[in-house]
Amino acid sequence: MFAEIITVGDELLTGNTVDSNSAFIAQKLTERGYWVKRITTVGDDVEDIKSVIRESLSRKPEVLIIAGGLGPTHDDVTMLGVAKALNLELELREDALKRIEEFYIELYKKGLIDDPKLNEARKKMAYLPTGAEMLNNSVGAAPGAFLIHEHTKIFVLPGMPREMKAMLENEVLPRLGKRTFLQKKLLAEITDESKLAPILNEALKKFNIKIHSSPKGFGKYIGIILFGESEEEIERARKFMEEKGIKFEEV
Ligand code: ATP
Repeated sequence: MFAEIITVGDELLTGNTVDSNSAFIAQKLTERGYWVKRITTVGDDVEDIKSVIRESLSRKPEVLIIAGGLGPTHDDVTMLGVAKALNLELELREDALKRIEEFYIELYKKGLIDDPKLNEARKKMAYLPTGAEMLNNSVGAAPGAFLIHEHTKIFVLPGMPREMKAMLENEVLPRLGKRTFLQKKLLAEITDESKLAPILNEALKKFNIKIHSSPKGFGKYIGIILFGESEEEIERARKFMEEKGIKFEEV
C-alpha cells in the first residue's frame, strides 16, 4: 500500500513556514501501514497544483493527501486545482455553506469577529469538486473533501496545523481502515553503517519488515527503526540480527 502527500503554500517554498504538516501526515500514514513514497510541495498556483496532482495520480497511489490552501483568500486555490486535475467543476455545496455559516455565528457569539454574515470570501470555502464528500472541519471554517479517482483515495485538508490534524484524525484515518503497522526504535551499538548494511540486507530478505537506519555521526550508535505488521515478526528479525553480532539498545 503506498501513499503520497502534497502540501500547498507559497510560504512553504519561501521557507517562511516549515512544512510540519507533511511530517505529521507521513507519520500517521506509516503507522497505518502505508508506505509514503513521495512528498511534494507546491505554491499557490492553480496550474502547478493541477499538474502535481496529475503527476501523483499517474503513479497510482492508494492514498493521496493534499493539505493547505483552502482558506477564504484569493490565493487559496487548492480546491480549484483538485477540480481541474480531475476534470471536475467546483460547485457550491449547501451542506458546506451551512457549516461555514454556523462556524462564523459561533465566532461572533464569542466576540471574536464583528460580523457573522456570509460574504463572498467565506462563501468561497463552500465550493467543492463535483461529487466530493465533504470532510468536516471541527476547529475551523474550511471544509475538506474526499474523492475517489480510479483506485486512489484523495483527501483535501486545510493547511492550519491544528485544523489539518483534527481532520486527519476524525475524517481521514477512519476512512483508511484499521490495519496498523508497528515501529520499533532501537539503537545499534556499531559505529560504521557499512558494517551494518549486509546484516540489514539479510534481515530484509528473510523477514516481512522494513528498516530505516540513520547514523548519529561517527559515535557509538546507529539509530534503527524496524517496521512490521506484527510484534512477533519484528522480534524475530531483531533476534536474527543479534545473532549476527549487532547489540541493540531500546530507545
Ligand atoms: P485554513 O487552515 O485557515 O482554513 P488554508 O487551508 O488556506 O486555511 P493555509 O492558508 O495554507 O491554510 O495556511 C494556514 C496557516 O497554516 C498558515 O499560517 C501556514 O503557515 C500554516 N501552514 C500551512 N501549511 C503548512 C504546513 N505544511 N506545515 C506547517 N504549517 C502550515
